[in-house]
Parts: sequence; C-alpha cells; structure tokens
Amino acid sequence: MDTSGKRKMGSTTRWLMGLGRKEVPKIFVPCSPNKGSQAVAIRLFDRKGLLGDTGLSALALKTQLEAFFRQMASTPTILPAVKQILETFTFTVSYFDRDPTKQEREDMAVMDFPVYFESTEGPSRITTGSLEELLVFHKIPEKAFVAKQLTDELPPVTLFITDGAGNQSTYKAAEEFVGNETALGLGIPGNYFKPDGVQHICRKLGVIKIDRVVFNIVQARRPQRLLQVLKHELGHMLGLAHIPGTLMDEDYDNVQEHAMYSRFQLQLLSTALTNMSKS
Ligand SMILES: [Zn+2]
Repeated sequence: MDTSGKRKMGSTTRWLMGLGRKEVPKIFVPCSPNKGSQAVAIRLFDRKGLLGDTGLSALALKTQLEAFFRQMASTPTILPAVKQILETFTFTVSYFDRDPTKQEREDMAVMDFPVYFESTEGPSRITTGSLEELLVFHKIPEKAFVAKQLTDELPPVTLFITDGAGNQSTYKAAEEFVGNETALGLGIPGNYFKPDGVQHICRKLGVIKIDRVVFNIVQARRPQRLLQVLKHELGHMLGLAHIPGTLMDEDYDNVQEHAMYSRFQLQLLSTALTNMSKS
C-alpha cells in the first residue's frame, strides 16, 4: 500500500532490480524516414478492456484528447512562432481493444505514439518481464533524453532518463515503474533533442496502470484523472522532463491543477515535433 497518500506520475526516480534479469539487445535497426509527415498518431492499446473502469467511452476519450492537442496552439501565453509550428501538426487518437499485431508494431513510424493500458492485478498483470518485452518489441533504446526550459534567458537543457540510482537506462527506469505501486504511468520519448539519426528518434512508448489510476477514486473523477495522466505521459513521450507546478509535475496532486502544458513546454514540443517531422 501507498502510505504517503501521494500518487507519483512517473518512475524515473527509483528502480527495483529483478534478480536474474537477462540482457536484451538494445541496438536496433533504424525505422523508416518520416518524409515530412506532420500527422501525429496516438494509438491506445487496451487488450484487457480496462477503459470501462474509468467511465470514459473510447469515443469520449478520443474526442477529448484530440481537443486537448488542438488547443495547444491556442494557449494564450504561447509565442507566435511556436503557435505557427503547432498549427501545422494534426493529432489523431485511435483506440484498440487489442494488442497491435507484430506487423503493426514493426511498422510503427516516427509520428506514431503507442500507449498501452495495463493493470497491476490478475493473471495478465504487468510484470518487469512483460514490460521489458514491450520495450524490446518497440525497439526502445537504452538511452533517451527529456528536456526542460525554465526561463527565456537560459536555453533548454537535456537530461538522460535515469532510474533512482542514476543509471542512464530507460530499461531500468521501466523496471522501477512496475515495482512502484504509486506510479500511474510511464512515458518514454525518442531522442528529439540530441538526434543521432532516425534510428532512435521514432522510438517511444507509453504505459498506463489503469487500475492504479482509478484506485480509491470516485466514479465521477475517473475520466478526468485518466485524461490528465495521459496528457502527462504523452508529454514525456514528446520529450518533456518533470517540472514542479506544471502538467509535468511528478506528483498527480499537482498535475490535476493544470489543463495545459506551460509556455516553455509548448516551445520544446514544437522543437521536438519539428525534429521528428524532418527526420
Ligand atoms: Zn512523469
């Protein structure tokens, strides 16, 4: 049980190492060049049919998440140049009550954002092994970066995704996420800010623990909670680091206070999207 009463969003601060963890290959073949596409495809995979527990229909989820991404360009504080960039991208949300097929996984391209709905209970619960498999399926590299910017004066800084022990490993951070009962979601980005070729820029993955999202939450508050968690994890998948007092706060209590990314976060998003579309 979580005794702190706090719900943590991500799991990039601590990790629990399983015994006998096998080494997996983390150098993968490149994915295809993007050829200028600006159509972001968010793909939600819910093979266990967990969405019903949140009280949201697939259509309502699609409609509200797409509206959120459309609204990014209309954020009042946004710089005109950033607005202009964001307006050129489209965001489509698709919901599947199944896993992607092997072919669909292999065909995931630069603008595809796969997110899996998982649970931590029952025979098909998420385990360190099953999540590691998912990372390998999606060819997630060992090292990935997130970025943050806090003022106009200072340029953005990039940070490795690490576990709590400081290991620069998406795999160890993911392992930590499974073991952390208070973690609600995981979002792993491609390397949009330190591009090392198309090999890594297209690899990204999101996982939401639906049973933890709705745990002890009254029905009426569940839809909003899932939406906020999705916005947060998609923020990570788009390359954003944790920043206190924003939608990208590590703590859900603060995440729920923010309907939209901050001005600097939108600026970084526009850079990430531009780098993706050009890859
Ligand atoms: Zn987070």
